[in-house]
Amino acid sequence: MPFAELTRLSPNRDRSPAHEQLGVLFHHSIQPFDETIALMARPESKVSYHCLIAPEGTRCTLVPDAEVAWHAGASEFLGRTRCNDFLLGVAFAGDTYAAPLTAAQIASALEWLAPRWTRHAWTIARLTDHRQVSPGRKDDLNPTEWSRLHAAIVAQFP
Ligand SMILES: [Zn+2]
Repeated sequence: MPFAELTRLSPNRDRSPAHEQLGVLFHHSIQPFDETIALMARPESKVSYHCLIAPEGTRCTLVPDAEVAWHAGASEFLGRTRCNDFLLGVAFAGDTYAAPLTAAQIASALEWLAPRWTRHAWTIARLTDHRQVSPGRKDDLNPTEWSRLHAAIVAQFP
C-alpha cells in the first residue's frame, strides 16, 4: 500500500533555471516532521527540501522536482559545486544519530525513488548524502544509516 503524501509548497525555491535532476542528496532534518514543514514555510529560514519523510512513511512535497530547493549549501558532487542545481533533496525527519531510520522511512524513500529512477535513468552512483558532499561542514546522514539506505536501494534497483 502506498504511503500517504501531502504537499506544502515552500516559498524557498527557484523556479528557473529548471532543476537538472541528475540524482538525489539525502538529509536528516533534526527537527520533527511538522516542525520542519513549518520552518520551510517561513521565507526567512531560506531552507527547503524537495521531499520530507516522516517516521511512519508519510511524505511531504515542499518543492516540485522541476524547481531548485535550498538544501545543500556549499557542496560538491560529480565534480561540480552547487549541488542544489542538479540534486533533488530528500530528508528523513529526525536525527539519524539519535535514532535509526525506520523501516517505513526506507520503504517510503524507495517508493519515492521508483518512478524517478526509471524516468531519469539514475544509478546508485547518482545518490549521496549531505555528509559526503559537504565534508566537515555537515554530518547527515549517520554513516551507519547511509549504509542501510544504500543497501536497501541497491537491493531494490539492481
Ligand atoms: Zn542536510
